[in-house]
Amino acid sequence: MTKITVAKGDGIGPEIMDATLEIILAAGANIEIEEIEVGEKVYLAGNTAGIAKESWDVIRRNKVFLKAPITTPQGGGYKSLNVTTRKFLGLYSNVRPCMSLHPFVKTKHPEMDIVIVRENEEDLYAGIEHQQTDEVVQCLKLISRPGCEKIVRYAFEYAKHYGRKKVTCFTKDNIMKQTDGLFHQVFDEIAKEYPEIENEHWIIDIGAAKMADTPEAFDVIVMPNLYGDVLSDVAAQIAGSVGLAGSANIGEECAMFEAIHGSAPRRAGQNLANPSGLLQGAIMMLNHLGQTKIAEKVQNAWLKTIEDGIHTYDIFKEGVSKQKVGTKEFAQAVIANLGQQPTHLKSVTYSEEASFNLPKYQRKPASQKDLVGVDVFVQWQGLNPDELAEKIQKLNSEKVQLSMITNRGIKVWPEGFKETFCTDHWRCRFKPTDGNLMSKQEILNLLSQAVDLDIDTIKTENLYNFNGKSGYSLGQGQ
Ligand code: NAD
Repeated sequence: MTKITVAKGDGIGPEIMDATLEIILAAGANIEIEEIEVGEKVYLAGNTAGIAKESWDVIRRNKVFLKAPITTPQGGGYKSLNVTTRKFLGLYSNVRPCMSLHPFVKTKHPEMDIVIVRENEEDLYAGIEHQQTDEVVQCLKLISRPGCEKIVRYAFEYAKHYGRKKVTCFTKDNIMKQTDGLFHQVFDEIAKEYPEIENEHWIIDIGAAKMADTPEAFDVIVMPNLYGDVLSDVAAQIAGSVGLAGSANIGEECAMFEAIHGSAPRRAGQNLANPSGLLQGAIMMLNHLGQTKIAEKVQNAWLKTIEDGIHTYDIFKEGVSKQKVGTKEFAQAVIANLGQQPTHLKSVTYSEEASFNLPKYQRKPASQKDLVGVDVFVQWQGLNPDELAEKIQKLNSEKVQLSMITNRGIKVWPEGFKETFCTDHWRCRFKPTDGNLMSKQEILNLLSQAVDLDIDTIKTENLYNFNGKSGYSLGQGQ
């Protein structure tokens, strides 16, 4: 018997959770339930995190968490419980299978069967944002080697375990050569360890267009956090309905399973909601717990119920559906089908073999890191970059000198275009005069002189070479 944590959430949450638990227990799930309260009531009681400290203890002790959607009250500085849970528990991998159920659920893509594996902890979602000048704000995009290795390996292990043929990587590394470049590079490295699985990389824009147009061209797709957030909703929607998809959030220690939809407050308490999304989450949970035969039994009974035309209002369609049912009746229909296989839709078989091989990240030996310059960012209200250059060049010394100024990444000095639009946020790049290394003391000297000359410095970024390889991008147009 495995103890799991359950939160029934808000809105339609309690109804779909009751239905889901009833189905999986009827199928023989070997679980003991420990319930906690999260969400609206907890928020409104004054806890801005939406969860009590004791509930964290329960989640961390049981390690597996099945969560119904919750309502985050508007305004008032309430923090998203989902984001906090993912980050606190290190749930680095978000897995969302999106499969069409043609012809029983309307979709333009009858052949679609893809799994989106989304990095869940880093990228632009680290939430490190700063206003730097009157006109410019920034958000730091952090991509780490451990983050990339863990998520890419997870995608390949998932593909291997579930008999999938191909893993595709989406990035925008033609533009973001350092951040997305690292993700792509790690993808290529790890793909080599799985010669039996096909691998490919697409630039995200054309990849996304292809996915929305011809999803059957893809199998498993792995991508950084932001792209995955957007594209997993697109994938669920074009498969037929956001209301049918489940989601797994997997970490090294803990895991959380849920539906991808929200708490649909307008549908609450009316026995209307479709429990399928949460049931899909629960099936992933059973697989995670190694109760694969139970997971298989539930999934096949669910597929059979869908193809029998027993549908809740959200997917009910005259001429295709046979019977419009409520949440409870849908659950009863799935239970009645336990042990049966679908005849039109493809039945599933889940492997009982031991779970994924996900070794802990091993930190590599530190590189030889050489300081080869510094970018000094300044706020300046002027318009002509040549004027700024004249001012900034006063910081030049025997050892370092201004080599370039950019505005929003594009080079504006030397030899800028007068057509380039400039904001009040300027990056001034200093390089050592002899083309060699520079010292941190020289950076301090630059900044201290800038104070004396009344130059408004906002921040600096050190330019490093790692084992002789450049660790920074050139200015656009440089
Ligand atoms: P929603 O997903 O709750 O609803 C969108 C639409 O889909 C509505 O028309 C709704 O009636 C319908 N719908 C959703 N799930 C359904 C189901 N199972 N059966 C039938 N119809 C269903 O999105 P929303 O309205 O933007 O958000 C409502 C609340 O949910 C907000 O407070 C939001 O913060 C929260 N939310 C929570 C989660 C989560 O806890 N994981 C995720 C998304 C949104």
